[in-house]
Amino acid sequence: MLFTDIIRTKRDGGELSDEQIQFFVDGLADESLPIEQVASLAMAICLNSMTFDEAATLTMGMAASGTVLDWSDMGLDGPVVDKHSTGGVGDKVSFLLAPIAAACGCYVPMISGRGLGHTGGTTDKAEAIPGYNTAPDFDTFKHVVKSVGCAVIGQTADLAPADRRLYAIRDVTATVESVPLITASILSKKIAAGLDALIMDVKVGSGAFMASHERAVQLSQSIITTAAKANLKTNVVITDMNEVLGTTVGNALEIEESIAYLRNDYRDSRLDEVVLALCAEMLIVTGLEDDVDHALERCDKAVTSGQAAERFDEMCVALGGPPGFVTNSSKHLAKAAVVKPVHATGFLAEVNVRAVGNAIIELGGGRHQVGEALDLSVGFSDFARLGTLLDGETPLAIIHAASDEDADNAARLLLDACTMQKEAPTVGPVIHEKLTGDS
Ligand code: URA
Repeated sequence: MLFTDIIRTKRDGGELSDEQIQFFVDGLADESLPIEQVASLAMAICLNSMTFDEAATLTMGMAASGTVLDWSDMGLDGPVVDKHSTGGVGDKVSFLLAPIAAACGCYVPMISGRGLGHTGGTTDKAEAIPGYNTAPDFDTFKHVVKSVGCAVIGQTADLAPADRRLYAIRDVTATVESVPLITASILSKKIAAGLDALIMDVKVGSGAFMASHERAVQLSQSIITTAAKANLKTNVVITDMNEVLGTTVGNALEIEESIAYLRNDYRDSRLDEVVLALCAEMLIVTGLEDDVDHALERCDKAVTSGQAAERFDEMCVALGGPPGFVTNSSKHLAKAAVVKPVHATGFLAEVNVRAVGNAIIELGGGRHQVGEALDLSVGFSDFARLGTLLDGETPLAIIHAASDEDADNAARLLLDACTMQKEAPTVGPVIHEKLTGDS
């Protein structure tokens, strides 16, 4: 089979056969396909999309391209469930939700991704914790999930390797924004993880891959339909990405904010709403709760009681991180050499969140090229919420950079990304819609 024929078929808007899709998956998994051919087909799919059947074949093929986990021999006394996000800026939900859900009786084997396009990646953020192993062997992974209740790791070489390669190439070739590619990428990993159920956080807005509500619903339906074909019960929550989630963006800074949340020291209200809504949905989809208010209360109590923080600490140690990280995180996290505020005047009315994510890449916190090493210390803290009145005292954000030059460049990018106005703007809700397989 000639791969150029496959590219040509999709370039001209045709439908790929199961054999052609499997040929693509095999070439990704064994790395026999060169980057330029993978990128060309990814771009053709981005432009001409795929049918539900093509997307399902790609999903199942990528899921089966490596090890498929089985939890049945682990003697777990609760459901195996996970959450995945379509990608955002400042999205540190995984670090909060996994230990909360574990404290509520779930088992969460969370296989996360690296940064993708302008969005940050949970795996990169986890690597800001010194010693934390994001690629343990499967035995270790399974035992940490069993003993702690959760393990947040990255994609290993053995798990959906076809997606691993495609993901890294999409990251740097502007080929992320495709409903079938996102569906196949996310679900292949989740099917390979052997889950009983999945909660999807589909982001919508200027910092999301789906900028409009209509596109977010389209992606949600694609995910629900494809997951159903693999018997994976999936509920979706569409959440807002028209501003940074929480107050920080950047790998180590987001870990610091996550720790403040788990210690119940500071919980940004929008971040809190998203975390609790997704976590409550996990308890509902797995049958651990049948009432949303009770589920929300149970998740909140897992934080205020300190149980979620304990789970996080246990997970961290089990994966090679420092003991007591929840109490002494600032001692361990990398700090940037230059820390300075950027000021503006007026109400913060609009944020081009994609441009904020791109500014992180410029600072060295995200990738321009496949495999590039990151500066985990850089980013933004104290990021103002939409509707905040900015002045000489309240900054738009605080920049953390490796040099004065980088900080000045980031300040320019940030000011370009944000719109200030004289009147207070109307700010929309953070939870937009919930969709289930039955809706
Ligand atoms: N997350 C993934 O794992 N893959 C995508 O394509 C987008 C978000």
